[in-house]
Amino acid sequence: MSTQRLIAGNWKMNGLAAELGEAKALAEALAGEAAATRVALCPPATLIAQMHWHLKESVVEIGGQDCSPKASGAYTGDVSAAMLKDAGAGLVILGHSERRGGHGESDADVAAKVEAALAAGLEPVICVGETLAEREAGHAVEVVSGQVIASLPTSLNGKAFAVAYEPVWAIGTGLTPTLEQIEEVHAAVRAAMVARLGEGGRTAPILYGGSVKPNNAAEILAVPEVGGALVGGASLKAADFLGIIRAA
Ligand code: PEP
Repeated sequence: MSTQRLIAGNWKMNGLAAELGEAKALAEALAGEAAATRVALCPPATLIAQMHWHLKESVVEIGGQDCSPKASGAYTGDVSAAMLKDAGAGLVILGHSERRGGHGESDADVAAKVEAALAAGLEPVICVGETLAEREAGHAVEVVSGQVIASLPTSLNGKAFAVAYEPVWAIGTGLTPTLEQIEEVHAAVRAAMVARLGEGGRTAPILYGGSVKPNNAAEILAVPEVGGALVGGASLKAADFLGIIRAA
């Protein structure tokens, strides 16, 4: 089980085959470097197989952005964890706020997807985070701790996984919490992981996500219990993403 730092890029619904050049440029830039951290790109499902083909000799790992809780069957439009794995993914982002908010996914839905990912041999990156209203009401720690407890099935024990703390109000906005706020929530996430999983909750990395850029990555990644980053917009261009990776 890896406890190494992980910097993962979430391309969201961005990227056609023409953008694979950015992934190739990233892989080429990292080729000669000692791997201080794990690096992953999570493109749209349509690009996973092509990206895997181009990057299979590189250190850059590939992930999906969501998966079905079901293994197979009559679920038109859905993609199973085994399909992601078959296409070349090793990881999968689950419970992103754009899935929780935009698609009504509950903690129980996320936990079911985590089970499906583990069954397929994928490493889940499980997202949690409070809304602005929840933060302003002073409930950030309580909300996030509750999401961790309810979204992490105990079958994660002994498996490779990561949790990503992504305040909803910081995603794609250019806003970030203070370093003290990040430290406070990451400590609470760790405590909730240990409460849920026992010893198995002590080592998995806790990523921070929400407007991480090359110019703020170093200070965020230096916060206690920040074990990496989940990066949206700044992962689309190899130069920006490299700036974050090199700050780790
Ligand atoms: C994300 O989508 O997970 C994310 C953190 O986005 P951004 O870096 O663009 O805020």
